[in-house]
Amino acid sequence: MVNPASGTVLGEVVAAGEREVDAAIGRAAAAFPRWRDVAPGERARLLRRFAALVDAHLEELALLEVRNSGHTIGNARWEAGNVRDVLDYYAGAPERLTGRQIPVPGGLDVTFHEPLGVVGVIVPWNFPMPIAAWGFAPALAAGNTVVLKPAELTPLTALRLAELGRDAGLPEDVFTVLPGRGDVVGERFVTHPAVRKVCFTGSTEVGTRIMAGCAAQVKRVTLELGGKSANVVFADADLERAAATAPYAVFDNAGQDCCARSRILVQRPAYDRFLELLEPAVRALRVEDPARETAEMGPLISAAQRDRVAGYVDGARVAFTGSRPDGPGFWHAPTVLLADSPADRHWREEIFGPVVSVLPFDDEADAVRLANDTDYGLSGSVWTRDVGRALRMARAVEAGNLSVNSHSSVRYWTPFGGMKRSGLGRELGPDALHAFTDVKNVFISTEE
Ligand code: NAD
Repeated sequence: MVNPASGTVLGEVVAAGEREVDAAIGRAAAAFPRWRDVAPGERARLLRRFAALVDAHLEELALLEVRNSGHTIGNARWEAGNVRDVLDYYAGAPERLTGRQIPVPGGLDVTFHEPLGVVGVIVPWNFPMPIAAWGFAPALAAGNTVVLKPAELTPLTALRLAELGRDAGLPEDVFTVLPGRGDVVGERFVTHPAVRKVCFTGSTEVGTRIMAGCAAQVKRVTLELGGKSANVVFADADLERAAATAPYAVFDNAGQDCCARSRILVQRPAYDRFLELLEPAVRALRVEDPARETAEMGPLISAAQRDRVAGYVDGARVAFTGSRPDGPGFWHAPTVLLADSPADRHWREEIFGPVVSVLPFDDEADAVRLANDTDYGLSGSVWTRDVGRALRMARAVEAGNLSVNSHSSVRYWTPFGGMKRSGLGRELGPDALHAFTDVKNVFISTEE
């Protein structure tokens, strides 16, 4: 493990091999019937205790994430708090996982939401804590056991969360974290028949392979994949606010955010003024040691990621950049590029770094066409003072998570997920629990 802000080695984590993974899946499968049969109120109590322990260790978890992932301390605290909140939210679920009674002739018909068995959660490196919790919390609440693979670069907080789960009283083998390689541990979640669902967050490329692999066993799958989201600014918008907030909508977590609004569309009459307002906002962004309380952006996750990001800037039209510290660490300055056309590589591809592209548009129809001219459909923002237009745009843009006059994507109590190649299924919110269950219909005859 390497600290991305300094490049120094933090230590080593032993990767699980295939035999260990099989053994862990076997133990999780054996633990399933016991966990499923824990009374709903008791399962709820254990999850609440888990949430309380996360809360008690919030600062420790946050500091661990700062060191392992280079997240700013402010973000890392939010992320650990999000794990607590997601656990608390789904702790309310076991006692409310009700089926239906459906009127039928000749008897009584009821439905049950049955847990699936072992759920495999595969997590990327960009938000190690929240994305893990969005999988394991509802899966456990619904009565499944969980095996979870963190990303190779960022396993430390997931390992610590598993310890806290055990300390909270989760029975042995109900929640197991298995650090290791994607093509070993992750792949085994896909091929092992005892794993009944894979909950994957990561690149569209790997997600596509996982879906194909799961198809062979008709294995349930949730995919949260890449994005290239649009931030559409109409000329009638509050341009000051739109420009002041745009940097945070894309440079947060150094742009390593699937919801990053990395394409800014500005209506032509406001284009020059918007860039004029955007420039000081980008220059003022505090890019510094992520452990400092004032940090707004930290380094990228690795040297390879920094070089990949820099490859998109080479040869592109740079409008202006923000700052970056000198010295070691995987830093890249926030960068604003001007797109010549929607065919530009930096306009089309997910960069997953602090780079944003700007393009003008003419009218509403043009904005919809450009916003939707992508294989992705995860999130997006619309800035306008016209309520009718805001609603028309919100319905017309093909993305799972849209915000009007703001840049919000993730609330643990509302659904989150992508359209098109950004994913399949929804996490969080009131319905996520059902993605970790199968509906069973039971008819009881009342005939004499
Ligand atoms: P990645 O797809 O390379 O890796 C994600 C996870 O999958 C890692 O744990 C990795 O070890 C594992 N993996 C790799 N190969 C595998 C295989 N053959 N079988 C099973 N598992 C395998 O992605 P990444 O580089 O870690 O993350 C960046 C990507 O994640 C970006 O595209 C980003 O948009 C996406 N992302 C999406 C969301 C969302 O919610 N939609 C959230 C965060 C990140």
